[in-house]
Amino acid sequence: MKHLQELFYLLGSVGFIVGLKMMGKPDSARKGNLVAAAGMAFAVLGVLFFNWSEADESFHITGNLGLILGGIAVGTVVGWLMAKKVKMTSMPEMVSLFNGMGGLCAALISIIEWRSLTGGAETVTLEAGHYIAIIAGLIIGTVSFTGSIVAWGKLSGKLGDFRFGGQQYINMVVLAGLLGAAYMNFSAAQDGNGMYFYITIAIAIVYGLLFVFPIGGADMPVVISLLNSFTGVAAACGGFLYHNNVMLMGGILVGSAGTILTVVMCKAMNRSLTNVLLGNFGGSSATGGSSNAAGGSVREVQATDVAIMMKYATKVIVVPGYGLAVAQAQHVVHELEQILEEGGVEVKYAIHPVAGRMPGHMNVLLAESNVSYDKLVEMEHINPEFNTTDVVLVVGANDVVNPAAKTDPGSPIYGMPILDVENAKQVVVLKRSMKSGYAGIENELFYNPKCGMLFGDAKDSLQKLVNEVKIL
Ligand code: NDP
Repeated sequence: MKHLQELFYLLGSVGFIVGLKMMGKPDSARKGNLVAAAGMAFAVLGVLFFNWSEADESFHITGNLGLILGGIAVGTVVGWLMAKKVKMTSMPEMVSLFNGMGGLCAALISIIEWRSLTGGAETVTLEAGHYIAIIAGLIIGTVSFTGSIVAWGKLSGKLGDFRFGGQQYINMVVLAGLLGAAYMNFSAAQDGNGMYFYITIAIAIVYGLLFVFPIGGADMPVVISLLNSFTGVAAACGGFLYHNNVMLMGGILVGSAGTILTVVMCKAMNRSLTNVLLGNFGGSSATGGSSNAAGGSVREVQATDVAIMMKYATKVIVVPGYGLAVAQAQHVVHELEQILEEGGVEVKYAIHPVAGRMPGHMNVLLAESNVSYDKLVEMEHINPEFNTTDVVLVVGANDVVNPAAKTDPGSPIYGMPILDVENAKQVVVLKRSMKSGYAGIENELFYNPKCGMLFGDAKDSLQKLVNEVKIL
């Protein structure tokens, strides 16, 4: 009976692990989310109601239950409403904001623990391991909080890039100052001087801001996933402090999953992890890169011609990008795919790891319209297929098909793996204008003689294609 809490923690941990595993595959991802949420419910119930007291041999509730349940209710309602209301295109901002809240919680746990440890005492004896858990949770949680808020501000367009010369060196000095203050605090606090604790908080806030401010657009996904892993580590520190196994396990899972995602994203974005850790991001949302398209002209095509091309093709590959999400054209693209397949055309989707504005953005979007998961092919598997493809339909994608990533060493996206769409027989790009994508650079693909531009909102253009293919 008295081990009921451990049982709840075990169920919670199993829920997290199984849920995370299920999230690895698109067809089980939704259920995985529910399984992980059920795991969290077990963890919360275990913490709240199954604290065994040896003194009176019964479970007891620590803290003010009314206040705790009130907090849970407010968090549930706010989180539910935000998740329901958020547009698919604003999802990364919401992830940043929620991640920041996690970091803040971890930092507050450290502050509360510190105050209860030192509160009122003239001198205090600190045990090194305990101190490291408190201070690491404080620093990492605070950096994650302020960094995530800046990332949210930048992604929502409320904040711009903020850069100055030698910024990365200043970041390193600030980081050294932060670690120095944390070190000084260890001995100063034992002599009754708590000032360094607050200095540590102040420097951590500044470091979080400096860390994310200079990061340019195209590197944003890397930093969001890195901050996510920070929050996990900070939460794991809370698990150490409270000897709470499920919190420790949850924190470690978030920390390691975030780190793995960071490494995968670094590869996809062609950024080294060292650069990321030093805050030395080179990405720019503005000017970089070059247009070698000088003198080249674009070929505008009409829906009727594209429909004929696709109707009589053997194989068509759709490349979805951010514009698909903006246009909310996921249902109509699925309709087009079904009509083509009924006519005997093989249709697949090429999924670039950073297409859209968050990892997995295209998978989520296409899952919404019930596109079969086996039609979604990852970049490394689809790239060899382009040279046997008749038509590539690029729907609102730009940077992820920009050949400058391979050919122009001066381009900010140089080195980023891209979808080799120009290897196909014909390429048709659906977008509204000649405007650039997220990286802010021109795309030479549009000037390739193989490439035709079908201008207009992606949803309208796809609808026209559906109508045209139907009557052929
Ligand atoms: P891009 O941002 O490069 O291009 C999107 C294109 O969609 C634009 O050129 C735009 O052109 C077009 N578009 C926008 N709205 C519509 C519409 N309604 N109808 C038709 N077209 C539309 O997108 P990609 O997906 O190719 O690349 C993603 C970029 O975002 C990469 O640079 C990546 O690094 C970055 N990024 C990725 C994240 C991730 O995790 N996935 C997170 C943050 C950034 P026009 O205005 O002419 O219509």
